[in-house]
Amino acid sequence: GAAARATDLSKVYGEGETQVIALDSVSVEFRQAEFTAIMGPSGSGKSTLMHCMAGLDTISNGSARIGDVELTTLKDKKLTQLRRDKIGFIFQAFNLLPTLNALENITLPMDIAGRKADQAWLDQVVATVGLAGRLKHRPNQLSGGQQQRVAVARALAGQPEIIFADEPTGNLDSRSGAEVLGFLRNSVRELGQTIVMVTHDPVAAAYSDRVVFLADGRIVDELRNPTADSVL
Ligand code: ADP
Ligand code: ADP
Repeated sequence: GAAARATDLSKVYGEGETQVIALDSVSVEFRQAEFTAIMGPSGSGKSTLMHCMAGLDTISNGSARIGDVELTTLKDKKLTQLRRDKIGFIFQAFNLLPTLNALENITLPMDIAGRKADQAWLDQVVATVGLAGRLKHRPNQLSGGQQQRVAVARALAGQPEIIFADEPTGNLDSRSGAEVLGFLRNSVRELGQTIVMVTHDPVAAAYSDRVVFLADGRIVDELRNPTADSVL
Protein backbone atom coordinates (compact mmCIF):
# COMPACT_ATOMS: atom_id res chain seq x y z
CA GLY A 1 0.00 0.00 0.00
CA ALA A 2 0.94 3.67 -0.18
CA ALA A 3 2.41 5.28 2.92
CA ALA A 4 1.97 8.64 1.19
CA ARG A 5 0.70 9.88 -2.11
CA ALA A 6 0.58 13.15 -4.05
CA THR A 7 -2.02 13.50 -6.78
CA ASP A 8 -1.87 16.42 -9.21
CA LEU A 9 -0.15 18.37 -6.47
CA SER A 10 0.63 21.98 -7.36
CA LYS A 11 2.29 24.66 -5.28
CA VAL A 12 2.43 28.30 -6.30
CA TYR A 13 4.36 30.93 -4.32
CA GLY A 14 3.47 34.60 -4.61
CA GLU A 15 1.18 36.13 -7.21
CA GLY A 16 1.23 38.24 -10.34
CA GLU A 17 4.69 39.02 -11.66
CA THR A 18 6.46 37.40 -8.70
CA GLN A 19 4.51 34.16 -8.98
CA VAL A 20 6.59 30.98 -8.91
CA ILE A 21 5.12 27.60 -9.81
CA ALA A 22 7.24 25.45 -7.52
CA LEU A 23 5.26 22.25 -8.20
CA ASP A 24 3.24 21.70 -11.35
CA SER A 25 0.71 18.86 -11.01
CA VAL A 26 2.98 16.29 -9.45
CA SER A 27 1.68 12.75 -8.88
CA VAL A 28 3.83 10.30 -6.96
CA GLU A 29 3.32 7.41 -4.58
CA PHE A 30 5.60 6.39 -1.71
CA ARG A 31 5.02 2.73 -0.93
CA GLN A 32 5.40 1.13 2.48
CA ALA A 33 8.90 -0.13 3.26
CA GLU A 34 10.33 1.61 0.21
CA PHE A 35 13.31 4.00 0.19
CA THR A 36 12.81 6.77 -2.37
CA ALA A 37 15.36 9.41 -3.31
CA ILE A 38 14.22 12.72 -4.80
CA MET A 39 16.81 14.36 -7.02
CA GLY A 40 16.91 17.38 -9.31
CA PRO A 41 18.67 20.68 -9.79
CA SER A 42 18.49 23.48 -7.23
CA GLY A 43 15.10 25.18 -7.44
CA SER A 44 13.38 22.18 -9.09
CA GLY A 45 10.89 21.79 -6.22
CA LYS A 46 12.43 19.02 -4.09
CA SER A 47 12.08 20.84 -0.75
CA THR A 48 8.64 22.11 -1.67
CA LEU A 49 7.42 18.60 -2.47
CA MET A 50 8.77 17.34 0.81
CA HIS A 51 7.30 20.24 2.80
CA CYS A 52 3.88 19.84 1.18
CA MET A 53 3.83 16.07 1.77
CA ALA A 54 4.96 16.53 5.39
CA GLY A 55 2.26 19.09 6.15
CA LEU A 56 4.85 21.84 6.68
CA ASP A 57 3.56 23.94 3.79
CA THR A 58 0.10 24.51 2.33
CA ILE A 59 -0.90 23.06 -1.03
CA SER A 60 -2.25 25.26 -3.82
CA ASN A 61 -4.03 22.51 -5.74
CA GLY A 62 -4.46 18.77 -5.80
CA SER A 63 -4.06 16.26 -3.04
CA ALA A 64 -1.46 15.04 -0.56
CA ARG A 65 -2.16 12.03 1.62
CA ILE A 66 -0.28 10.43 4.49
CA GLY A 67 -1.75 6.93 4.75
CA ASP A 68 -5.44 7.56 4.16
CA VAL A 69 -5.43 11.06 5.66
CA GLU A 70 -5.93 13.91 3.20
CA LEU A 71 -3.76 16.80 4.41
CA THR A 72 -5.82 19.50 2.66
CA THR A 73 -8.79 18.71 4.93
CA LEU A 74 -6.82 19.29 8.14
CA LYS A 75 -6.73 22.48 10.18
CA ASP A 76 -3.43 23.58 11.79
CA LYS A 77 -3.97 21.77 15.06
CA LYS A 78 -4.78 18.43 13.39
CA LEU A 79 -1.88 18.90 11.00
CA THR A 80 0.54 19.44 13.89
CA GLN A 81 -0.85 16.32 15.54
CA LEU A 82 -0.44 14.31 12.32
CA ARG A 83 3.18 15.45 11.96
CA ARG A 84 3.88 14.39 15.54
CA ASP A 85 2.18 11.02 15.29
CA LYS A 86 2.85 9.88 11.73
CA ILE A 87 5.93 11.64 10.36
CA GLY A 88 9.62 11.48 11.20
CA PHE A 89 12.07 14.17 10.09
CA ILE A 90 15.82 14.09 9.48
CA PHE A 91 17.63 17.32 8.63
CA GLN A 92 21.00 18.15 7.14
CA ALA A 93 22.05 19.94 10.35
CA PHE A 94 21.06 17.09 12.76
CA ASN A 95 19.05 19.53 14.95
CA LEU A 96 19.85 17.79 18.24
CA LEU A 97 19.46 19.56 21.59
CA PRO A 98 23.00 20.07 23.00
CA THR A 99 21.99 19.77 26.67
CA LEU A 100 20.29 16.38 26.26
CA ASN A 101 22.08 13.07 25.90
CA ALA A 102 21.54 10.79 22.88
CA LEU A 103 18.72 8.80 24.44
CA GLU A 104 16.93 11.95 25.64
CA ASN A 105 17.22 13.42 22.14
CA ILE A 106 15.84 10.21 20.63
CA THR A 107 12.77 10.18 22.85
CA LEU A 108 12.21 13.96 22.98
CA PRO A 109 9.51 14.17 20.26
CA MET A 110 7.59 11.38 21.95
CA ASP A 111 8.00 13.01 25.36
CA ILE A 112 6.65 16.27 23.94
CA ALA A 113 3.72 14.44 22.36
CA GLY A 114 3.05 12.67 25.67
CA ARG A 115 3.60 9.29 24.07
CA LYS A 116 5.46 6.42 25.67
CA ALA A 117 8.12 4.85 23.46
CA ASP A 118 7.75 1.11 23.04
CA GLN A 119 10.89 -0.22 24.79
CA ALA A 120 11.36 -3.26 22.54
CA TRP A 121 11.06 -1.07 19.46
CA LEU A 122 13.46 1.49 20.90
CA ASP A 123 16.03 -1.24 21.62
CA GLN A 124 15.68 -2.47 18.04
CA VAL A 125 16.07 1.07 16.65
CA VAL A 126 19.16 1.78 18.76
CA ALA A 127 20.71 -1.51 17.61
CA THR A 128 19.77 -0.85 13.98
CA VAL A 129 21.55 2.51 13.92
CA GLY A 130 24.51 1.22 15.93
CA LEU A 131 24.15 3.49 18.97
CA ALA A 132 24.27 0.98 21.80
CA GLY A 133 26.93 2.22 24.24
CA ARG A 134 26.53 5.84 23.12
CA LEU A 135 23.16 6.64 24.65
CA LYS A 136 24.49 8.67 27.60
CA HIS A 137 26.72 10.84 25.39
CA ARG A 138 25.74 14.41 24.63
CA PRO A 139 25.89 15.60 20.98
CA ASN A 140 29.26 17.38 21.46
CA GLN A 141 30.74 14.07 22.62
CA LEU A 142 29.69 12.36 19.38
CA SER A 143 31.06 12.55 15.82
CA GLY A 144 28.93 14.09 13.08
CA GLY A 145 28.01 10.64 11.79
CA GLN A 146 27.01 9.50 15.27
CA GLN A 147 24.93 12.66 15.76
CA GLN A 148 23.08 12.00 12.53
CA ARG A 149 22.50 8.40 13.66
CA VAL A 150 20.89 9.83 16.80
CA ALA A 151 18.68 11.93 14.52
CA VAL A 152 17.81 8.81 12.49
CA ALA A 153 16.88 6.97 15.71
CA ARG A 154 14.83 9.99 16.84
CA ALA A 155 12.91 9.88 13.55
CA LEU A 156 12.32 6.13 13.87
CA ALA A 157 11.40 6.11 17.59
CA GLY A 158 7.72 6.93 17.19
CA GLN A 159 7.19 4.28 14.48
CA PRO A 160 6.09 6.92 11.97
CA GLU A 161 4.17 6.13 8.82
CA ILE A 162 6.94 7.81 6.84
CA ILE A 163 10.28 9.57 7.34
CA PHE A 164 11.30 12.62 5.31
CA ALA A 165 15.05 13.21 5.17
CA ASP A 166 16.38 16.47 3.72
CA GLU A 167 20.00 16.04 2.53
CA PRO A 168 20.77 13.80 5.53
CA THR A 169 24.40 13.36 4.47
CA GLY A 170 24.99 16.97 3.41
CA ASN A 171 27.13 17.76 6.49
CA LEU A 172 28.99 14.46 6.66
CA ASP A 173 32.25 13.20 5.23
CA SER A 174 31.79 10.39 2.73
CA ARG A 175 32.57 7.60 5.18
CA SER A 176 30.09 8.77 7.86
CA GLY A 177 27.62 9.54 5.09
CA ALA A 178 27.86 5.98 3.82
CA GLU A 179 27.29 4.70 7.36
CA VAL A 180 24.18 6.81 7.86
CA LEU A 181 22.84 5.75 4.46
CA GLY A 182 23.50 2.13 5.36
CA PHE A 183 21.50 2.56 8.57
CA LEU A 184 18.66 4.25 6.68
CA ARG A 185 18.59 1.24 4.36
CA ASN A 186 18.67 -1.15 7.31
CA SER A 187 15.66 0.60 8.78
CA VAL A 188 13.79 0.08 5.51
CA ARG A 189 14.82 -3.57 5.17
CA GLU A 190 14.76 -4.67 8.82
CA LEU A 191 12.11 -2.42 10.34
CA GLY A 192 9.89 -1.88 7.29
CA GLN A 193 10.25 1.90 7.53
CA THR A 194 9.17 4.07 4.57
CA ILE A 195 11.73 6.78 3.76
CA VAL A 196 11.76 9.68 1.32
CA MET A 197 15.13 11.40 0.99
CA VAL A 198 15.96 14.61 -0.86
CA THR A 199 19.56 14.58 -2.07
CA HIS A 200 21.90 16.16 -4.58
CA ASP A 201 24.31 13.28 -4.24
CA PRO A 202 24.14 10.35 -6.69
CA VAL A 203 26.16 8.24 -4.25
CA ALA A 204 23.45 8.77 -1.62
CA ALA A 205 20.71 8.02 -4.16
CA ALA A 206 22.38 4.69 -4.94
CA TYR A 207 21.25 3.46 -1.52
CA SER A 208 17.58 3.99 -2.40
CA ASP A 209 15.14 1.61 -4.07
CA ARG A 210 13.88 4.24 -6.46
CA VAL A 211 14.91 7.68 -7.66
CA VAL A 212 12.37 10.33 -8.67
CA PHE A 213 13.82 13.21 -10.71
CA LEU A 214 12.30 16.68 -10.57
CA ALA A 215 12.92 19.57 -12.98
CA ASP A 216 11.00 22.84 -13.01
CA GLY A 217 8.39 21.52 -10.61
CA ARG A 218 7.60 18.38 -12.60
CA ILE A 219 8.58 14.75 -12.37
CA VAL A 220 10.72 14.16 -15.44
CA ASP A 221 12.03 10.67 -14.75
CA GLU A 222 11.79 7.78 -12.35
CA LEU A 223 14.24 4.92 -11.97
CA ARG A 224 14.10 1.68 -10.02
CA ASN A 225 17.43 0.81 -8.51
CA PRO A 226 18.08 -2.89 -9.04
CA THR A 227 21.47 -2.70 -7.32
CA ALA A 228 20.28 -1.06 -4.08
CA ASP A 229 21.03 -4.17 -2.03
CA SER A 230 24.53 -4.59 -3.40
CA VAL A 231 25.73 -1.13 -2.31
CA LEU A 232 26.42 -2.20 1.26
P1 ADP B 1 14.78 22.68 -4.44
O1 ADP B 1 14.51 22.12 -3.09
O2 ADP B 1 14.71 21.67 -5.53
O3 ADP B 1 16.05 23.47 -4.51
P2 ADP B 1 12.59 24.44 -3.82
O4 ADP B 1 11.45 23.54 -3.54
O5 ADP B 1 13.31 25.01 -2.65
O6 ADP B 1 13.59 23.69 -4.79
O7 ADP B 1 12.12 25.64 -4.71
C1 ADP B 1 11.32 25.48 -5.87
C2 ADP B 1 11.00 26.86 -6.43
O8 ADP B 1 10.13 27.53 -5.54
C3 ADP B 1 12.23 27.76 -6.56
O9 ADP B 1 12.02 28.56 -7.71
C4 ADP B 1 12.19 28.58 -5.30
O10 ADP B 1 12.84 29.81 -5.46
C5 ADP B 1 10.72 28.74 -5.06
N1 ADP B 1 10.39 28.86 -3.63
C6 ADP B 1 10.61 27.94 -2.67
N2 ADP B 1 10.15 28.37 -1.49
C7 ADP B 1 9.63 29.60 -1.70
C8 ADP B 1 9.01 30.58 -0.87
N3 ADP B 1 8.80 30.36 0.44
N4 ADP B 1 8.60 31.74 -1.46
C9 ADP B 1 8.77 31.94 -2.76
N5 ADP B 1 9.35 31.06 -3.61
C10 ADP B 1 9.77 29.93 -3.09
P1 ADP C 1 17.43 23.58 -0.65
O1 ADP C 1 18.85 23.81 -0.24
O2 ADP C 1 16.79 22.40 0.00
O3 ADP C 1 17.21 23.62 -2.13
P2 ADP C 1 16.69 26.30 -0.52
O4 ADP C 1 17.98 26.84 -0.07
O5 ADP C 1 16.25 26.41 -1.94
O6 ADP C 1 16.59 24.78 -0.05
O7 ADP C 1 15.54 26.92 0.36
C1 ADP C 1 15.52 26.77 1.75
C2 ADP C 1 14.17 27.29 2.23
O8 ADP C 1 14.04 28.67 1.90
C3 ADP C 1 13.03 26.57 1.50
O9 ADP C 1 12.48 25.57 2.30
C4 ADP C 1 12.02 27.64 1.18
O10 ADP C 1 10.93 27.61 2.08
C5 ADP C 1 12.76 28.94 1.34
N1 ADP C 1 12.93 29.58 0.03
C6 ADP C 1 13.53 29.09 -1.06
N2 ADP C 1 13.46 29.92 -2.10
C7 ADP C 1 12.79 30.99 -1.65
C8 ADP C 1 12.38 32.22 -2.23
N3 ADP C 1 12.63 32.51 -3.50
N4 ADP C 1 11.72 33.09 -1.46
C9 ADP C 1 11.46 32.80 -0.19
N5 ADP C 1 11.80 31.66 0.42
C10 ADP C 1 12.45 30.77 -0.29
